[in-house]
Amino acid sequence: MGEFDLISRYFTRPPRHALLGVGDDCALLQPQPGMQWAVSSDMLVDGRHFLSTTPPARLGHKALAVNLSDLAACGAKPIAFTLALSLPQIDEAWLQGFSQGLWALADAHGCELVGGDTTQGPLNICITVFGEVPPGDALLRQHAQVGDDVYVSGTLGDARLALEVFRGTLTVEAEHFEAARARMEQPSPRVALGLALRGLANAAIDISDGLVGDLGHILQRSKVGAVLTTDWVADSAAISPAMQSLTMNRRLDFALAGGDDYELLFTAAPDQADGVQEAANDCGVPITCIGRITSTPGLQVLDMQGMAMSRRFASFDHFAR
Ligand code: ADP
Ligand code: MG
Repeated sequence: MGEFDLISRYFTRPPRHALLGVGDDCALLQPQPGMQWAVSSDMLVDGRHFLSTTPPARLGHKALAVNLSDLAACGAKPIAFTLALSLPQIDEAWLQGFSQGLWALADAHGCELVGGDTTQGPLNICITVFGEVPPGDALLRQHAQVGDDVYVSGTLGDARLALEVFRGTLTVEAEHFEAARARMEQPSPRVALGLALRGLANAAIDISDGLVGDLGHILQRSKVGAVLTTDWVADSAAISPAMQSLTMNRRLDFALAGGDDYELLFTAAPDQADGVQEAANDCGVPITCIGRITSTPGLQVLDMQGMAMSRRFASFDHFAR
């Protein structure tokens, strides 16, 4: 099988909304009148962003999920994506699984594959997503307001828990590991929640490198500070049964600086609290209030007793040493 057979067999379908999809030099997309494009790329590199043990269908899911998570964080509706693939060899079983996981998530979000590139090389998957958002409605990092409540969606720390089990630094019961592993390998992009938070949240980001680090981006861009509580790490909707099985110290590390969560972190004025809760209920995604935006710059992390913690929570940085 050659490159073009591969593209036509695994990555080509008739266009639905695109004017032109896979097959020409460019795809042609028509935005809805008056809408803005939200565009984002994310690359997954073998050994860096995923383990070679990841089943290909889960990898196909994850490659698109991490990109949809960026659209969710902006409150944009997914429309289309491109796929740039570097493959060591043509492995049909792998391609079958990968494309199946990819199409399933794409269909679930009505997001169509309109083009890409395919080359031989180390396994590397780069997706670019295109979403739509009405002018002025995009959720950005820069608009957090002093006094805002800080929330997270879903659960935090599970992906890191699974990674540490794979690394052999931690053992947990089999059912906890399987649940955490599914969160690591098949994150759920919070697209519906992102859309529902338009007009309610002041600022948002998706948590990919760890809560503390990603909250730091909001604080920096919004020129504000925050107080982060940790009592929710003991018991809240944000802590899964798998995380509950760990010591408090480990939970703190994984929930505050774990990475690969792909949950939304957002801020909203206290008088929007009912609307925010309703939006989350409508989407079937739990949310947890974890702190407050302050005028004092920097991030203060409080312990369970409400005292300032001196411990540092480093976020993931590919070039840090
Ligand atoms: P070009 O020679 O113009 O770079 P290619 O030969 O790389 O085009 O690709 C041929 C067509 O197949 C193009 O429409 C391109 O967008 C599409 N394509 C290539 N690889 C992929 C892929 N992995 N997924 C989806 N579409 C792809
Ligand atoms: Mg060309």
